[in-house]
Amino acid sequence: MSAHKQPLDRLAMNVDPSVRRVSSWGRLSNELHSLVPLNDRTALDVALTKSAAQGVAYGNGRSYGDVCLNPGGKLWTTRGLDRFISFDTTNGVIDCEAGVLLHEIIRVALPHGWFPPVTPGTQFVTLGGAIANDVHGKNHHSAGTLGEHVQSLLLRRTDGAMIECTPGKHRDWLEATIGGLGLTGLIVRARVRLKKVPGPWLHTEALTFRSLAEFFALSMQSERDWEHSVAWIDCIAGKGGITRGVFFRGNHVRHDAVARAPRPRTVPLTPPMSLINGVSLRLFNCVYFRANKLRSGRRLSHYVPFFYPLDNLLEWNRIYGPRGFYQYQTVVPRAVEREATAELLAAIGRSGTGSFLAVLKTFGERRQGGLLSFPMAGTTLALDFPNLGDRTTRLFERLNAIVLAAGGRIYPAKDACMTREMFVRGYPRLSEFLGFRDPGISSAMSRRLIGS
Ligand SMILES: Cc1cc2nc3c(=O)[nH]c(=O)nc-3n(C[C@H](O)[C@H](O)[C@H](O)COP(=O)(O)OP(=O)(O)OC[C@H]3O[C@@H](n4cnc5c(N)ncnc54)[C@H](O)[C@@H]3O)c2cc1C
Repeated sequence: MSAHKQPLDRLAMNVDPSVRRVSSWGRLSNELHSLVPLNDRTALDVALTKSAAQGVAYGNGRSYGDVCLNPGGKLWTTRGLDRFISFDTTNGVIDCEAGVLLHEIIRVALPHGWFPPVTPGTQFVTLGGAIANDVHGKNHHSAGTLGEHVQSLLLRRTDGAMIECTPGKHRDWLEATIGGLGLTGLIVRARVRLKKVPGPWLHTEALTFRSLAEFFALSMQSERDWEHSVAWIDCIAGKGGITRGVFFRGNHVRHDAVARAPRPRTVPLTPPMSLINGVSLRLFNCVYFRANKLRSGRRLSHYVPFFYPLDNLLEWNRIYGPRGFYQYQTVVPRAVEREATAELLAAIGRSGTGSFLAVLKTFGERRQGGLLSFPMAGTTLALDFPNLGDRTTRLFERLNAIVLAAGGRIYPAKDACMTREMFVRGYPRLSEFLGFRDPGISSAMSRRLIGS
């Protein structure tokens, strides 16, 4: 399957060919949905009407949990909304439909010296999906979230209304829709200001660290001079109170080397059980840490391996086996970030479970783009966990207690099991947001966390 396609189950066709089994990236469920492709305005007018059943938008299914799912109901698939409307190559403002992938924007914009101002760890997300989760990247401290760079949105409500929102017009709708989890209406198109870059290259540095204190010192140092920074941590080493990891930082740089796109590989099948367990994890973490220690230092990196290392292994989500996996991503506020992060890592270390994908990053002091945007000034930790049933959910209960006590929150884009209490306490502007909800839209997540 190509990276551009959605993880929709091609074999599970029923009598009605539009009814298919659909998973999100975590592959925790695989329920039947009625798919409604939105390829143009006419399809949109037919699908999004007051009389039709509730549905929710599905971009490219790169969310891990149930934010983009609606089992037994309608999914409005948006990849057909893939037209570029305009691109001002002088000022870097691009206007396109919401189903365009970041990958496609880069392909068009980079030859003119422009790049997405904020990018998540995969380029295979749609613009609409990225706005609806108000995604962040490795440059949160210097650029905030994607929502900060959105100049306008065209929002289609299920009562037929079209709302053009900009920071100067219908700003309230803009703030509700950025990070609005697809619940305020369907984003038809968006205008985004891109970032000027000298080309596809970055000047990068990798540094190993052996304690959380070292991580925080590196983060603080890097925030001034490095546009992008992120750390990988060994979540198992935390067991004895030690946290080791690799700190990566990078700045865009001009260079004449010819960029050769790496050829992605694909995980060919789903193994009968998760390949991630205590033994494989320990081995991987040990090798990864040592390899980076040997190779640490400055180098020139192409933007693909620096921003999107996982995009070179297509369908890597299969390695967790048929039961799928969770991602737990939390942020804890600056005032308590050291103690709370240490507690989270200790609890994860004690559990003996976790993943080779463990990411630690500080978020900067930025204005919150959307009413439900995830980032806040502090530290974010993101880890994948194979789905081990009760064992995993019991661990999450322990982690949730630490996050709640710290005044932090969980990222909906990654979530499949946060409680309603966690959501309400983590997102204090929720009641304000509810005034903007579109009653014709409902997702598995909205029913779980908001009750409808
Ligand atoms: C390998 C990997 C790395 C990642 N790294 C990061 C990261 O660093 N930072 C980060 O923030 N996220 C990260 N993510 C998460 C990902 O960026 C988000 O989940 C993103 O929103 C997925 O976009 P999508 O197009 O696949 O949307 P989907 O997952 O299909 O949908 C996401 C949400 O958007 C809504 N939506 C989709 N299209 C529209 C539309 N046109 N109008 C209204 N609502 C819409 C859906 O209803 C749903 O609520 C990562 C994901 C993966 C798989």
